[in-house]
Amino acid sequence: MIKINKDIYKKIFRLIKKYDEIVIARHIGPDPDAIASQIAFRDSIKNTFPNKRVYAIGAGVSKFKYLGFLDKPDFNSLTNALLIVLDVPNFYRVDGIDDLDYKEIIKIDHHPKEDIVGTVDFTSDEFSSTCEMVANILYETKLMIDKDIAEKLFLGIVSDSERFLFKNTTVGTFEICAKLIKDYKLDFVSLYDNLYQKSFNECKFEAYIINNLKVSENKFGYIIIDNKIIEEYKVDISTPSVLINNFNFIDELNLWCFITYDERNEIYKVNIRSRGPIINEVASKYNGGGHKYASGARISKKEDVNHLLKDLENVAEEYLAKEEE
Ligand code: AMP
Repeated sequence: MIKINKDIYKKIFRLIKKYDEIVIARHIGPDPDAIASQIAFRDSIKNTFPNKRVYAIGAGVSKFKYLGFLDKPDFNSLTNALLIVLDVPNFYRVDGIDDLDYKEIIKIDHHPKEDIVGTVDFTSDEFSSTCEMVANILYETKLMIDKDIAEKLFLGIVSDSERFLFKNTTVGTFEICAKLIKDYKLDFVSLYDNLYQKSFNECKFEAYIINNLKVSENKFGYIIIDNKIIEEYKVDISTPSVLINNFNFIDELNLWCFITYDERNEIYKVNIRSRGPIINEVASKYNGGGHKYASGARISKKEDVNHLLKDLENVAEEYLAKEEE
């Protein structure tokens, strides 16, 4: 069980109570946990304090529209705003706050600590997801929950824990999910359609990756995917991110990495996953970061892609050598 000093919940509630203007932000390139946590938190604060102006900001993603709408407030009209930052440890990856003048920050995040430090700071990489942290905050304070909010939090937890498969899934994760399901009568099976529905093109593209992944004797697998392949399989540039977790539990892989060239932005997007070797330290050398076993990076030069691959190969080799000792 994760040990939490419950004072943090009181402090979060007090700071929310103090402000009438609240902006909730999260990372660029959002996933369901990032969007669901900000929308659920916004709706809860608005339902609890109808007179507060509360906004969930950042670029929308059409495939996550089912999680709810985002806001586009006029920042000039905000003179005394509280910023709540969810699911992101570093300022450069927060989406949409460049022109926002805010007074204080509440930070809630399950990534290892980096440069963002909140006036009230709830950072713990022991949680499965930011939605699990937000669900705990709502249960431990007077912030309201309804069925819609509970559904979003549940989806964020399921998605970011990869259906409770990842190592930071705890008894607490199951307990909070059970509470949400029971207290708000969630028909949880029907919620999975939105998360897991996929096209035949996506399945064929996954087969392409399986057939073309280069796998080393150190149980390290990687593939570089160029734009032509994305076009040929008629999938989205973000599809490799959706598929990377499916390569867990393969005998021949301890560490695997997809590198997708984004022609429009002239950048290599890197997804890295592991079943043992620690990868976020390598990712952070290449304009990246993340969790110990799930990281990402953004690389502009091809030669750095080669350096990254070499570093990952080394980490995989060291891990295997220790495992075989
Ligand atoms: P992804 O492979 O994009 O699903 O990302 C896996 C994890 O790494 C997530 O927790 C991300 O927040 C984190 N991550 C991805 N890209 C970056 C980056 N460029 N910098 C820091 N963290 C990242």
